[in-house]
Formats: sequence, structure tokens, C-alpha cells
Amino acid sequence: MLVMKFGGTSVESAEAIERVARIVATRQKHGPVVVISAMAKVTDQLIAMGEKAAAGDSGTALEGLRSVRERHLQTARQLLGLRRSAAVAPRLETLFAELENFLRGLMAVRELTPRGSDYLLSFGELLSSLIVADAFVVRGLNTCWVDSRECLVTDRTHTRAVPDLLATREGCKKKIAPLVLSKRIPLLGGFIAASAEGIPTTLGRGGSDYSAAIIGASLDAERIEIWTDVEGMMTTDPRLCPSARTIEKISFNEAAELAYFGAKVLHPAALLPAIRQNIPVYVLNSRNLKSTGTEITAQAPPSRDMFRAITAKTGISIVNVVASRGVMVHGFLRSVFEAMDRHAASVDIVAISEVSLSFTIETKRLPAALLNDLERIADVTCENEQAIICLVGEDIHGKPGVAANVFNTVATAGVNVRMISQGASEINISFVIRENEVPNAVRHLHEHFFPAAPGISVRNSRRRTGLPAPGGLRNRKRPSVNAKDGTAARTKAAASLS
Ligand code: ASP
Ligand code: MG
Repeated sequence: MLVMKFGGTSVESAEAIERVARIVATRQKHGPVVVISAMAKVTDQLIAMGEKAAAGDSGTALEGLRSVRERHLQTARQLLGLRRSAAVAPRLETLFAELENFLRGLMAVRELTPRGSDYLLSFGELLSSLIVADAFVVRGLNTCWVDSRECLVTDRTHTRAVPDLLATREGCKKKIAPLVLSKRIPLLGGFIAASAEGIPTTLGRGGSDYSAAIIGASLDAERIEIWTDVEGMMTTDPRLCPSARTIEKISFNEAAELAYFGAKVLHPAALLPAIRQNIPVYVLNSRNLKSTGTEITAQAPPSRDMFRAITAKTGISIVNVVASRGVMVHGFLRSVFEAMDRHAASVDIVAISEVSLSFTIETKRLPAALLNDLERIADVTCENEQAIICLVGEDIHGKPGVAANVFNTVATAGVNVRMISQGASEINISFVIRENEVPNAVRHLHEHFFPAAPGISVRNSRRRTGLPAPGGLRNRKRPSVNAKDGTAARTKAAASLS
């Protein structure tokens, strides 16, 4: 059994949903459970409608509803044809009528509560999952729509509810597992759930990944696939460095570190339920049927390169806090950290010397009140337009000379380093430079630590995972491909690299 999650951009149009159906077909034999996000931008549109309605702007709210309705009905028509889409339209129209009623209610009471917001947002995933389920059936996939609100049980922390893993496991075993056993494909909306009393809740924005991980963990799935619109996690931002490549394997800790320091693919915290149970998670590209993506596991094998990836986080400020003369060190540090705590300042890197402390923080999240507080106990200066470069890799642990190697490379690029940090866990080396030097620094570092080696980086997902690559069905028809180890596919890919 495996869980396949498709994000908003993967189901944004009829064409995208067609691709999703083809991808799921390649996994049919392995017992897929499919989790779907709302169509791209729909969740934002629902929020906007709710806000407008609660503000009394009924015109804009209902106009928003009209355009969301039209988009879904048109996608259904394109995917299902006129006759079949007419058959499912009543089900969709019931949802649109409920949604309209709710918006009118908001116009009357002029308040959107967190509980109301969860109800409102649930329409995005309900609509998309119903349409995709029907599109699958029409394409010969034996699919059965499942109501996530009957499987995923959470507490009542509306807008970011906390799953009750035991109750959810029970729900999944009851509602989903029997379908898989009878060779059907259960398909459900991500992100949405319900409390034990049956009140709709959501898992927080971007929560479909979390749904997939929770469902995978509940069903003891063999793997979880997160299908998105990029080629897995990359060794660095390809816009900064065109030679960036997909990371084949990465550990959960490394992925978390990357997300924290600016990588945008997915937040691995959402994957924790799966990782804890040792279920591997793959990040794959739904626009590329041959995607083999990135594998995230609790422990990843050593990589060929010294690091797993390089990230850059821009829009950073350095705040320098220098104690007034005569202040005792411990008292000074305590006051500074207490001030950070009072203002809930989310600080990235801290460097301390006897009478001064410097820290970095995202400029847009630097509270002015924090600076005011600090000025009472010290001299404070602030420098904007800085960036944190972070090199992540568990393999650097216990290896001498790594930092020297990094900073030599940065020096070769002629870039000045402002602050340095390497934690005792030795999973990353990070440092601060001026924002405008980021492209230059990252390019030098990437060229140095991730030299291109044609052929080696090309992988064979079939051997690695025991599953066909998404393009595998097509490959199998070609007699020249050795289906066992995919030799021909590999040679072809290697050739196209050189
Ligand atoms: N549709 C929800 C959102 O946009 C959940 C998700 O896409 O993961 O936040
Ligand atoms: Mg989304």
C-alpha cells in the first residue's frame, strides 16, 4: 500500500488532472491511496470570499463564488464530457449551494470565526477530490471517493487542528483499508478533517502533506509520495545556479534544516508521523512522468558529495547588541534573551563575545519593540539586506577541514563573511553575507561542492524503490528496456546528460 498526495498545482486544470490519472495508473498494482489538495489558489479565494462576506461586501464575495464554481464545473466538463459531467453536477451544485448559504450567513452576522473558516475552506478539497475521483473512474481506475472527515479525527483547535492519531488510525482502518484490500483506489481530500463530534476542522495551510503522512502512518503504508510541481528537493535554488540538481536521498533532519533555512519545497514537520514509523517519503514532480525525485527517510545513506544541499535565506537583519561598560556578562545575556522571549523573536544565528551579542532575524519579523527594549540595556545597531547561506549535510560530522574548505571557497569568490555558525550536531555550517553577494557565493560553493559528473547523478527509480517509474507503463511496452533493472532507461538518460 502506498499513499500518493497531489498538491494544488498538480490538480489545477483538466490537463493536470489527466496527468495525475496517468501517474496513479502506474501504481495501480501497489495499492494506492490518493490524497488531493484543493485546485491551485482555491483555498486563497475561499478565504478572500469569507473575508469579503464578513465585511458586508456581498458583491465581491458572490463574484468570487461564481468564478470558483465556473472553474470547477468547466474542469469537470473537460474531464468527464457533457453527459457524465451532467450526472455529477448535482453533487457539486449541492456544495456550491451550501457554500453560498454560508457566505450569506457571514454577510448577516459579519463575523468569520475560526470554526467557520474551517467549514469554509473544506469546500476546496471536497470539490477537487470529487471531480478527480470521477475523472479517475472515467479513465478506468477503480476509484472510490472517501470523506476525509470520517477518517481523520482531530481536536477542536480550529484552523490548525491536532490529529488524534489513535482515532484516526481506527478511522483509516475502517474506511480506507478495506477498499485497498478489494483492489479499489480510495481517494480523499487532504487538509480537511473533523473533530470527534464531527465538526469540520483543518490541519493548517499546506496541510495536505500532513494528511498524507497521517494516513500513511495509520495504514502502515510502504511509502508516501508527495507529488508537486518541482523536481524534488534540489541541491540549491536553480534560479541562483542552473547546475542545481535533484537530491536523491536526504535524511529527515537534513530536510528540516533546509526548510528552516529557506528551501521552499515542503515543510518536513508535516511528515513526522510517517518518518517516526520509518515510512520513506518521496517528493516527486507531477509534470514529469519520469520523475524519481527525492527520498526522505529517518536516516539517509552517505552522499557522494560532502554536503546534501546549499540554501540561501535573504531579507535578514543583523542586530548587534553591545553591553554598556561594567555590566556583568551573565546578567547581560539574560536580559537580552528575556527581551527576545518577550517579543517572541524568532532568531536564526547568534554569536556571543564577552560584552556583545549579535543575532540574525528575518527583517520583516524583527519587532521594533524588541529594539527599543534592548536599547535600554545596551547599544544597539542593526544592519539590513543580509543573507544566511547554509550548507547542510550529516556526513560532515567529525570530518576535519570542512569549515576551512567552505570558507576558502567563499574567499575565492571574494565574498566577505559577517557571522559564522556551526552547531554541535554538525549537520550544517551557516554564515551571513550581504544579500547582493548571494548569487556569486552560492554559484562558487555549488560548483565546488557539487561538481557535475555526467552519468553518476542519473538514477534508476525502479531498482531503488521496487516500483515502476511513473513513465514505467510506457517503458514496459518497449522490448529494449530491461524491466528488471532498467538498464536501457539509465543508459539513455546518461547519454542525454553528456
Ligand atoms: N489547500 C490547502 C492550502 O492551500 C491545503 C494544501 O494545499 O495542502 O493550504
Ligand atoms: Mg496548496
